[in-house]
Amino acid sequence: MKIVTLIYAPPSWITPPPLAPVLLKAYLEHTCTAEVRILDLNQIAFRRLPETRPRWLKVDPAFERSLFARLRNAVPLLMEKVECTAAESDAVGFTLTQRNTPCVLDIADRIVRRNPKVKIFCGGPQTLRFYLSGKFPGLRAQWVIGEGELPSARIIRGDDRARIVHDELSDLDRLPHYDFDYLAPSRIPPVLPLLSSRGCPGECAFCTERFLFRSYRIHSPSYVGEQIIRLHRRYRRRYFVFCDSLFNHSFQWLEEFCRMIIDTRLSIRWEAQMKIQPSFPVALARLLKKSGCSNLFIGLESGSDAVLQKMRKGVTAGGARSFFRTLRTAGIHFEISLIAGFPGERARDFAQTCRFLIAQKRLIPKIAQINPYLDYDLRRAAPRFPSRRARHRADRLAALVAAEKIPFTPRYINNLIQPGKVPR
Ligand code: SF4
Repeated sequence: MKIVTLIYAPPSWITPPPLAPVLLKAYLEHTCTAEVRILDLNQIAFRRLPETRPRWLKVDPAFERSLFARLRNAVPLLMEKVECTAAESDAVGFTLTQRNTPCVLDIADRIVRRNPKVKIFCGGPQTLRFYLSGKFPGLRAQWVIGEGELPSARIIRGDDRARIVHDELSDLDRLPHYDFDYLAPSRIPPVLPLLSSRGCPGECAFCTERFLFRSYRIHSPSYVGEQIIRLHRRYRRRYFVFCDSLFNHSFQWLEEFCRMIIDTRLSIRWEAQMKIQPSFPVALARLLKKSGCSNLFIGLESGSDAVLQKMRKGVTAGGARSFFRTLRTAGIHFEISLIAGFPGERARDFAQTCRFLIAQKRLIPKIAQINPYLDYDLRRAAPRFPSRRARHRADRLAALVAAEKIPFTPRYINNLIQPGKVPR
């Protein structure tokens, strides 16, 4: 039997726990009869380096480069054990993000030095950037671009290709259900993650998420319901967060999902990301509420129709207002995100966004995120720094939101900006 170690490196969100390792574990154990271990170094680092927590959610390359050394200093024996366990495996897999790449490269390097024969494979959003920019790190690894199940199984079975690109499952419902048994019972968090789909049919100009998947696919409502029931029975948890790029692609799917959840009588609560849909029926919004929808994350991004059009959001500010009213009528809490300084955003467009926020402040329960526009062109090794104007406007929006007493999440205001990079 092949032994596979999946390592999730810091820094990343702490709650909910990452989905990629548990999805891969379930799939590889089911299809390759492999023994799969998950080492969540992100959780370990968060617990063992409490002094670093204030820097956890803010982009900071200097901090990210220092994390592995900090961890080795803080828990040398534990890290020795992690490296040994990984080096004794047949294959070691990593999920790469922009922020954890330095840590992954450090760990992988040490594992390869211990055992040059171990297979290393890396997936995650950062591998897409490497692929599109044509610049891969010097690490001897196999690179998975797009979703990981089929490529990882091929690698475990002996596929030696250096890159496997967009090798996607056709029927998501054939995936085995996953669990979080790798965590000690006392470490099972109160909120557990779910995934009902892969990809996004949206075309938003600023977004890179849709490039990770070639096609949009969705589980049946009954599959998602079965996963919820399993997690609830196993861990007695009632709060779930959908990690989908987009949860409201189909009204019919949503209705079936909500009715099925209501029929289970589990009294769960859930949250998800939704796009603005002015024609969203109030009856369906009420059904969402009844099924346990307790929060939605919605990308408004701008209050100017001209900017929304440039962003290819497919919606107007008036349409957003209608959607927000529908959600409020149904009693659903939601949070919105804003982008300042999108290319082509004129002073009068920005002023419209400010006016929109002031006029709709009683309709908008919370601002989740404000950031200056970041050019994420994937053909470059890293996002381009935001312009001074974009950063200035993001600061003005943050000040406006505070002055108008619209609730907001302080740690997500300007948190994607590298400190000290843009002159004021
Ligand atoms: S709907 Fe969301 S995930 Fe889809 S392209 Fe737009 S911003 Fe990206």
